[in-house]
Amino acid sequence: MTGIGIDIGGTKVAAGIVDHDGAILAHGRAPIVKDSHETILESVCVVVDDLLVQAVERPSAIGIAVPGTVDRDQGIAISAVNVGWKNLPLVALLQDRYGLPGVIANDANAGAWGEYAFGSCKGMENLVYVTVGTGIGGGIIEAGRVVRGRGAAGEIGHILVNPGGPLCNCGVNGCLESLAAGPGIARRGRTAAANEPSEIVRRLTGGDLDSLTSFTVHDAAEAGDQMMQGVRDDTARWLAIGCQICQQLFAPECIVFAGGVMQDGGRLIQGIRAWFQRLAGSEHPDIESFIRLAGESEHAGILGAAALVLRPEQ
Ligand SMILES: [Zn+2]
Repeated sequence: MTGIGIDIGGTKVAAGIVDHDGAILAHGRAPIVKDSHETILESVCVVVDDLLVQAVERPSAIGIAVPGTVDRDQGIAISAVNVGWKNLPLVALLQDRYGLPGVIANDANAGAWGEYAFGSCKGMENLVYVTVGTGIGGGIIEAGRVVRGRGAAGEIGHILVNPGGPLCNCGVNGCLESLAAGPGIARRGRTAAANEPSEIVRRLTGGDLDSLTSFTVHDAAEAGDQMMQGVRDDTARWLAIGCQICQQLFAPECIVFAGGVMQDGGRLIQGIRAWFQRLAGSEHPDIESFIRLAGESEHAGILGAAALVLRPEQ
């Protein structure tokens, strides 16, 4: 049995044919054309058409991960600001075109499900998945099921960790995302360096502090800039506070991190582990396993989407 996993992002769509064990048999990608619902759908179909030509065995279903809110039961992408759609009945549209049933999920929930089905947390029935990039997404699996609440549970990025802090995209001040996602890290870095940027920061930004990103913070910290090491340590502390809250609420077997900001040679994950223990005031018996990085598969998004149909939730 094989399934198609479609991972729709803000700028591109990636899709693949995946077998029951999580092996990717074929994959492809295309840029998203965001003029209208029709052109977005066409971007998706270009990739899927090509995959079906390559398929040895006809896939049995389509899993779709989208960067926004979904109505899973109705198969509708309700809103995705980065892609620019509203109430798009994606599952029905793809079913009409390909004659295959489908399941849609928010991309962080699909990511969590992919880790559960095929990834580093395979076999764990209780886990928290956190993706740190331009935003912070989250997915919670409890007793082998995704926690949804009335619809949008698991939004770890919007846990309020610093009331009155920076304004978050959601309109609240001081969410975890406003402090510890890429743009929040960059903003704290610029604030820290505003008065007296170090020689290292000046060199890395070419003297233009506005160009400082979360990656600059990392590079400067690696080059020995103590101020940026402090900014990075604060990022770890905010994320560890998020972990502490999740630990108390869900007692997961592991908290698994993914996303571009985490791809830093393990610095941030080490910092999160250290802060988690400091905040708890005790040593976790197996902290390396408890707070971990997702496997660095470039196809994690495809696997997560395919897992929705290859390992359907019971
Ligand atoms: Zn928020």
